[in-house]
Amino acid sequence: MNSSTLDRFSEKVLQIVRANGIGIFSLSAADNRLYPQTMRNGSAHIDIEALDPIDMEDETEFASFAWRALNHEVHQVAEEPVSLSGHELPPPVMILPIIWSREPIEEGEDTLRRAVGLMLLWNKRDKDRFDADDHTLADTLSAQAAALLVEEQLAEFEDIQAAFATVPIGLMLVNETERIVVANQASRSILGQTSLTGKRISEIDYQNQLVKILDYVRAGRTVQSSFISPNGVNFIANGQSTDDDQIILAFSNSPINQDAEELVGQVAHELRTPLTVIQGNLQTVEALFEGELQEGDGELINEFVGTCLLQASRMYRMIDETLNLSRIHVGKELELEVREFDLIDAVDQVLLELEDRLNRHNLVVEMPEHLVMEGDRGKIISIVDNYLKNAAKYADPGTTITLSLVPKNGSVAISVRDEGIGIPEDSLARIGREAGFRTDVSKNQAGGIGLGMVYTRRVTEAHGGRMDIESELGVGSVFTSTLPLVHTPTSS
Ligand code: ADP
Repeated sequence: MNSSTLDRFSEKVLQIVRANGIGIFSLSAADNRLYPQTMRNGSAHIDIEALDPIDMEDETEFASFAWRALNHEVHQVAEEPVSLSGHELPPPVMILPIIWSREPIEEGEDTLRRAVGLMLLWNKRDKDRFDADDHTLADTLSAQAAALLVEEQLAEFEDIQAAFATVPIGLMLVNETERIVVANQASRSILGQTSLTGKRISEIDYQNQLVKILDYVRAGRTVQSSFISPNGVNFIANGQSTDDDQIILAFSNSPINQDAEELVGQVAHELRTPLTVIQGNLQTVEALFEGELQEGDGELINEFVGTCLLQASRMYRMIDETLNLSRIHVGKELELEVREFDLIDAVDQVLLELEDRLNRHNLVVEMPEHLVMEGDRGKIISIVDNYLKNAAKYADPGTTITLSLVPKNGSVAISVRDEGIGIPEDSLARIGREAGFRTDVSKNQAGGIGLGMVYTRRVTEAHGGRMDIESELGVGSVFTSTLPLVHTPTSS
């Protein structure tokens, strides 16, 4: 702990109270021991690193003074020298509790009050006892010491939060009033919340599953229950109570993942299409090289190689998307590689890549000639790609698919309209929010495992944008991602 503030504070106390020695200890709620934070005897600083923490169960004179001071919130005075970890403290020795208290913030809440440490003052200058004024002064100073100690404890708490943040499983600390005290990044993504600290569990709970776990833990039962996050991902949640009646909730990825096999199958299937195109093109190039090269072959080769590169970049994106989906699955945030790019170029690239998928539909594209925006180019391409692929999948050949890009008020609305099977109204809210969700009407359609829209929504929201779906059964659907043109990093 950085104690230079406490060191300076203790010097000030010595001048005010006119004593020669001071010691400030913090009380650890975890093991009920006193940890020395600063100590000086006359002009000499005592090396606190060499001092052991004080256990109040110890049978030393000092431990019993400390115990009484803290438990009865009273000053103790020793008229004889007090021995502390091998140091003789010359009398008189005043031992006073450091109490931290806070007025209620909310209605119905009690004033918070807890002992956070102990202050010792010894060897009053020019006198052999502390008088009433010294006690009053010491009280005021101990309230200041409380603020300093709590501030230092909070700094340590931030370190705990930093450690929490790096853990890939979701962790939350919940207090007695069911309020979240700390939550890490993974728990925010699992629960689909941008912030959790300070919220009540009931505010963010999904189908009361977490409240149930809290009830179980309070009833003294160890629980491990299967839990479905708002994103539809299976998690195992554990609850454990702490010594001070708080509850730690931990979520980890469910070991049983029915989607995994299906996902691998789907990805392999999807990767085969561009790979077949690449293979075919390379074979043609090979054949050209095998014979005598004719005039114009250079151009042809260029074209074939160009197609290969395009399909390779499509494969790259598909692999990237799969990797990102698995990151989301374990509760990690999406990482964006933000840069400035021309959205129209990017869309042209998707249209070329998807030629084989879209050639049986009547494709209408409405967009400006150039539109520069900031964002993760590859991921924004995935948005357009997913919307177009779905339109082609869920609308009959021969119908019209309209892709439009409309810039407006610093944003761009990317929409794909189809004349397909449509989506029942009560399913609209679940698309892109629950992994694996498919509408009943789409289930007889080939392929599809209900992950593309989850990814699309995440990518849209990670860019500070919004995804909207309008649809009418049997008539068609419009999927829209509205994205800001200038990227502002979100803080979570
Ligand atoms: P999938 O791989 O199943 O298509 P998505 O996440 O892309 O997964 O979509 C989730 C579900 O949303 C689909 O299974 C389908 O039920 C519905 N859906 C998505 N796009 C459309 C669309 N254009 N028309 C009708 N239903 C759609």
